[in-house]
Amino acid sequence: MTTPQKLDRILDCIGIGLGPFNLSIAALSDEEKTHLKTLFLERKSHFSWHPGLLLSDAKMQTSFLKDLVTAVDPTSPYSFLNYLVTQRKFYPFCASGQSVISRLEFSDYLGWTAHQLPNTQFGCDVKSVAFEQDHFRITTDKEVFNSQHLVIGTGMQPHVPECIQPFVSETCFHASELALRSPDLTGKRVAIIGGGQTGADIFQHTFDKQFGKPTHIEWISRRANIEQLDEGCFTDQYFMPDYVNQFYQLDSSNKQQEVSHQKLASDGVTSDCLQGIYQRLYHDKYVLRNPRWWKIKTHQSLISSRRVNGQYQLDIQHGLTKQVETINADIVILCTGFNHDLPQCLDELRPYIMTDEQDRILLSSDYCLQWKGMKNNSIYIVNSGTDNHGIAEPQLSLAAWRAAKIINHLAQDSVYELAEDDNIIDWGDLTFKPEKHLAAVSSL
Ligand SMILES: Cc1cc2nc3c(=O)[nH]c(=O)nc-3n(C[C@H](O)[C@H](O)[C@H](O)COP(=O)(O)OP(=O)(O)OC[C@H]3O[C@@H](n4cnc5c(N)ncnc54)[C@H](O)[C@@H]3O)c2cc1C
Repeated sequence: MTTPQKLDRILDCIGIGLGPFNLSIAALSDEEKTHLKTLFLERKSHFSWHPGLLLSDAKMQTSFLKDLVTAVDPTSPYSFLNYLVTQRKFYPFCASGQSVISRLEFSDYLGWTAHQLPNTQFGCDVKSVAFEQDHFRITTDKEVFNSQHLVIGTGMQPHVPECIQPFVSETCFHASELALRSPDLTGKRVAIIGGGQTGADIFQHTFDKQFGKPTHIEWISRRANIEQLDEGCFTDQYFMPDYVNQFYQLDSSNKQQEVSHQKLASDGVTSDCLQGIYQRLYHDKYVLRNPRWWKIKTHQSLISSRRVNGQYQLDIQHGLTKQVETINADIVILCTGFNHDLPQCLDELRPYIMTDEQDRILLSSDYCLQWKGMKNNSIYIVNSGTDNHGIAEPQLSLAAWRAAKIINHLAQDSVYELAEDDNIIDWGDLTFKPEKHLAAVSSL
């Protein structure tokens, strides 16, 4: 490794990570408009969006209008509509009648934006961040940068249940690696663990023999059934600025209660995807009358696992009867979600970061991490979990609005108009003393 070169100028803000959320901030940070000098660093050599899950027939869960910029700046050159026009596919797109687009196309739009922005740098892995008097020093594998503020957009880390961690290998892996590994499933017994959207996408693509024809597929879900995403228009009110602002004001236990009631508003399978799967299964079982080569098991949790004679033995327990059953598989694909941990590059700052009694980070309504040097140096965090701002946080719906909010705070100016409309629903007066829980913490 070459010694990182030190750059002396201090930028206004450095973004770490270039997924859609920091990309939205980068796209809205035009220097002429914001008077901010920004730079966004990404470890990958070029833009890619969850490349291991970019399956050929996977669809978005959100509208293409909820792109990087449109909600706060519809005249931005980085809108999805401008992407369609400049790629010369606007009219064909309109004729396609799609209300929900493929992840492949959205990913292409994100990459198109990322590689034309002047404030992005790829192939730049941030190794550490230190605080020096009045600025952050950001050390990457190539250069050292200085910045007054930071915005962390490093995404989430794959979650692998403890009971199967020792067996993670070529044949037992997290779903986020599937398309990158492109395994040959021909003649194999495949176990898919996890009944959310990722489990459904992988079941569908495995059933469609995208990776060869397995002899058997077993799809295991802890949930009581294969559960549909709640896409109702009233449910969509949770993904609006007004609700997020109101939610933010709740105290921690009410927040937890609200989020657990809202699970299927963000964590279910789209109705289109479910119907597609159901119709395939119906055709296979009742029309073609194929011998059964797939099983869907709900209410089952993976509780332990072993590797015996080259195959996996997975113990699953029924949530109601508590009966334990063992299934055998050659390939195990873990659709077991993601964790929201702080990235390793922030380790040096950790002693200064304030947390609540459950060791969770605390964010201001403007997404600033509460840390001991925060007076003139902000650390913004996007996609930090649902604890502070609710279920919209890990989702694309409010990415542009959140980005604009962060930029206004960074610029100390109303660069973007954020007049938040009244919601259809009257949520009651959740307002109270502004930032009451943070006040309690900062008095420590
Ligand atoms: C398969 C999938 C499909 C989804 N589909 C939808 C959808 O349709 N609608 C919706 O609303 N939400 C969807 N989501 C949820 C959410 O929108 C995405 O997870 C989104 O990618 C989150 O963006 P992000 O910017 O936080 O993180 P990521 O997209 O994970 O990007 C983080 C980036 O940071 C980089 N990075 C990390 N550490 C460093 C470092 N030290 N130095 C430099 N770079 C670093 C990583 O390489 C990565 O590129 C989906 C999630 C998944 C997993």
